[in-house]
Amino acid sequence: MTKPLNVIELECSACGKKYDPATEQHLCTCGRPLLARYDLMGAKATLTPENLKTRPRTLWRYAEVLPNDPPVSLGEGMTPLVHAKRLCASISIRCPSGGLENLYVKDEGLNPTGSFKARGMTTAVSRAKQLGAKALAAPTAGNAGGALAAYAAAAGLPAVIVMPADTPSANVMECQAFGAKVVKLNGLISDCGKYVAEHKDREGWYDVSTLKEPYRIEGKKTMGYELWEQFGGKLPDVIIYPTGGGVGLIGMCKAFDEMQEMGWIGTERPRMVAVQAKGCAPIVRAWEAHEDSAQFFQNATTIASGLRVPGPLGDLLMLSMLRRTNGTAIAVADNEMLRAGRELASLEGIFGAPEGAATVAAARLLAMAGWIQRSDSVVLFNTGTGYKYSEAWQRALQV
Ligand SMILES: *Cc1c(COP(=O)(O)O)cnc(C)c1O
Ligand SMILES: [Zn+2]
Repeated sequence: MTKPLNVIELECSACGKKYDPATEQHLCTCGRPLLARYDLMGAKATLTPENLKTRPRTLWRYAEVLPNDPPVSLGEGMTPLVHAKRLCASISIRCPSGGLENLYVKDEGLNPTGSFKARGMTTAVSRAKQLGAKALAAPTAGNAGGALAAYAAAAGLPAVIVMPADTPSANVMECQAFGAKVVKLNGLISDCGKYVAEHKDREGWYDVSTLKEPYRIEGKKTMGYELWEQFGGKLPDVIIYPTGGGVGLIGMCKAFDEMQEMGWIGTERPRMVAVQAKGCAPIVRAWEAHEDSAQFFQNATTIASGLRVPGPLGDLLMLSMLRRTNGTAIAVADNEMLRAGRELASLEGIFGAPEGAATVAAARLLAMAGWIQRSDSVVLFNTGTGYKYSEAWQRALQV
């Protein structure tokens, strides 16, 4: 052991039961995800705007609120926040409520392996290595597999990636290039998750599935810290986020709670918008039906592979966070994503993933409906690069 672990305890997000972070932990006995807790009063003393000025431009700059393992890092985080003026103008045309003027795109496609999955994997793999994991395994809809395979390679650990047979080919190739073992199944990410759960004990795998270990959230929450820094010590009014497993949404809301406890912000919160695909929208359905939990979404299908998560484990957390922040949930059809993606690329020079493009379509719908006001500052998350989605974009050129 080097320094003692700065994570004081792991706490169940549903029942509050506590777990020891010094040993390997996955879900609570009640079946729900665990969240890492820190000494925030201690963190606050050194995590200051002054100190941040001189820190490395990766997410590890927020060391006090991350597990303090030696980082397995590829330079993730501190992605650009682009003021999307031309996109604003385009959305504002014929918009009865006046359109938008403060629209920004956080371009997560510039992370290692081309998606924000790198954020979660740098912290999860660093911790797993420190805990003595022998092999890492995860089900994936696409980008999580590529990121896990890359960070496992950087850590010198073997990885097993289980993915649907129709996952975008770039994701299959990158996993193979990183030296991971790839298992393809005829099914969805939920079936891949079952496969990992059934094999992990016998094979000695450390399960890095979404929310089934506590540290991917920790890496992803840094998107919230970065927004605070990039907006000069405040947060935007609205955050529009393409939601699959929900790690980013849960992570950012956790970051805001930590920031409030450290006195950085008050009780105000950005209104969080979960964007899903019409072909796989369990959270939108639950939101519209005023439910606390989501039902499994049958026959899920969408080109936005990262949104093809029919039964997310974080449903309770996501729905309560949307409520708490006065947010909303909205679904976008695949064709609308493709059209919006061409708009984002041709107006702003950002070639996004269909998931990221979905937030552009959602912003337009919410502006048209007057849910977003002209004066609101709005952040869209382009969660991945468009370069990995050649199958989807080939379709776009035909529509
Ligand atoms: C995984 C993924 C998502 C969904 O992310 P969550 O934080 O798990 O909801 C969105 N977009 C892309 C490109 C992804 O790879
Ligand atoms: Zn519990």
